[in-house]
Amino acid sequence: MSRTAYVNGRYCDLRDACVNVEDRGYQFADGVYEVCEVRGARLVDFPRHMVRLQRSLRELQIDEPMPITALAIIMREVVRRNRVTYGIVYLQVTRGVARRDHAFPPSSVKPSVVVTARALDYEKKQQTAATGIKVITLAENRWPRVDIKSVSLLPNVLAKQEAREKGAYEAWYVDSDGFVTEGASSNAWIVTKDGRAVTRSVDRGILAGITRAVLVEVMGALQIRLEERPFTPAEAREAAEAFVTSASQIVMPVVAIDGRVVGNGQPGGITRQLREEFHRFSAFS
Ligand code: PLP
Repeated sequence: MSRTAYVNGRYCDLRDACVNVEDRGYQFADGVYEVCEVRGARLVDFPRHMVRLQRSLRELQIDEPMPITALAIIMREVVRRNRVTYGIVYLQVTRGVARRDHAFPPSSVKPSVVVTARALDYEKKQQTAATGIKVITLAENRWPRVDIKSVSLLPNVLAKQEAREKGAYEAWYVDSDGFVTEGASSNAWIVTKDGRAVTRSVDRGILAGITRAVLVEVMGALQIRLEERPFTPAEAREAAEAFVTSASQIVMPVVAIDGRVVGNGQPGGITRQLREEFHRFSAFS
């Protein structure tokens, strides 16, 4: 089955889906994006993703391309046309197409919108979650505005590649004070030996993950104690459990950090519980 994309007002075959070479997303990474999980052909926590999208756009002074209700219709339609029941839907908004010049183009230039959707292999994902993933750590080298979900992801690309080359799946950034900030495409968590979940607070150095925000509510309901504070790679290696969160991974156990086993090398009990309970607390639309 061929895949369908939405590009600036048109649904088209993904193979023919093109943006202009002078799109500022292409030339300057001047744009933002969102990724929502799709489950049962429905969008998971869509309203929260849209609140973050609006914030990212505001921070970069990019106009909202259309009302959120219209974006919802397009995203659902792309999911439907691609027959995705489990997977992800990707939305990208850039500052639009204009003659190449670093400063903003005139306000007559309208933002570009691209939406794609992709099915993921549910069983494979569950198998990965059953064994857990490995992470490496590396020095934080991103710009300070990582709170904006910008398409400017080159450091993240390099970090993920380094992880792959070292037999790991994710890379955790470590700031100049020696604390883990987050993963290249996820938020980072540990569980202490006395059962407290620890993750960095959203006020500095990380993207405010939607999965992270929902999980905080899950923890409240399950009476799992939460500490929002930074932790070091050394504390993480000695922790009982570790995991990452993101829309595409939900709660994914981490079983090794820089080649050192976490806990007993198996996904931890609290991590597994959080993964199992997560969608009871998400909004489906
Ligand atoms: N941090 C970074 C750098 C990310 O790229 C992502 C997701 O892509 C996250 C955190 C997790 O965010 P969310 O849970 O909203 O997917």
